[in-house]
Amino acid sequence: MYLPPELVREIFKCVFDLDNLDSSETTPTEELGVPRKQKWCLIQPLTLTCKAYRALSLEFWFHTFFLQLPADIPLAHIMFPDLKKKWTRYIHCVQTDSKYTSIWNLQGFGCLSTIRLDWLSPRMMPHHGSDDPADRLPFTNVPSSVNELDIRGLPWPSPLVFHNIGGILPELKVLKMRQPKIWCGLCHTCSVVRFRSPGPKIIVYEGGLGLPMHYARVFRTLQHLHTVYITIADFGSGSTIVSAEADKNQHFWTGECDRCMYVMYEDAGFRDRWVARKRGIILEGHEKETVYIRPAALKRVEWRFWAARDEEEVDFLESADENSEAEDVV
Ligand SMILES: [Zn+2]
Repeated sequence: MYLPPELVREIFKCVFDLDNLDSSETTPTEELGVPRKQKWCLIQPLTLTCKAYRALSLEFWFHTFFLQLPADIPLAHIMFPDLKKKWTRYIHCVQTDSKYTSIWNLQGFGCLSTIRLDWLSPRMMPHHGSDDPADRLPFTNVPSSVNELDIRGLPWPSPLVFHNIGGILPELKVLKMRQPKIWCGLCHTCSVVRFRSPGPKIIVYEGGLGLPMHYARVFRTLQHLHTVYITIADFGSGSTIVSAEADKNQHFWTGECDRCMYVMYEDAGFRDRWVARKRGIILEGHEKETVYIRPAALKRVEWRFWAARDEEEVDFLESADENSEAEDVV
């Protein structure tokens, strides 16, 4: 007796559902450059049973498409003509180089909804006015069905990196970022974060506020963006006191580095004007100063922090010296 094809399909769906597997059956999820999907050795026997099961196995296997070279996209299309048009929902790109040849052409992906980009290239120095694609999000011909971008490991997460985001991802609804540094709107550079211990695990802003001001200005071209998740390292040993409780975040922290806050917040007048600007408030007598502009649909900004290990600290402090630059952003 044969099972109805609809039932077989549901069974395959369960087999490939990562939530149904324990961690020993999948590869790690947070490590850069490592795919989040089942181990092939568990799936391969299914592909050998019959033509129908092989077709279903490949279809579900390629729902998540893991790639380390842009040139692999046309090769995969030749081998599996349905991959781009019908199969892939989630594409996981690993950026190992930052030359022109590392631009990901996503033309023809008919069902794609999410892009994950792991940035492993050590080079990324965005420059104002640059036309080098290596300075920007490295995608072209992104289908309009894509509504989520998950970008990890950016060595220099300047707002300039996102200058092309409105043009290539106009339908974006959810943006996730995970990297060791963040943009400081006061010194216009990227820095590691240092809170006085114990630092916060999570800070949530509602109502369209809560991004670094220059991020908000770049993201205002995204008419559908409703949620931004920013996950960064907390290197500890700082003087900045911030926690999730409202009374411990009275300065409305949105990425400022510990040094800027220590030095510049000494001037209470400057500090109060800066906090007002981050809330989008134009103060009398300071009408010419730029203020926070909410992206049209933004509802929630969620900051999460992980405690940096000692070896991470050495790595990133060294690279911070190499990358240090001040930017005229907008
Ligand atoms: Zn700063």
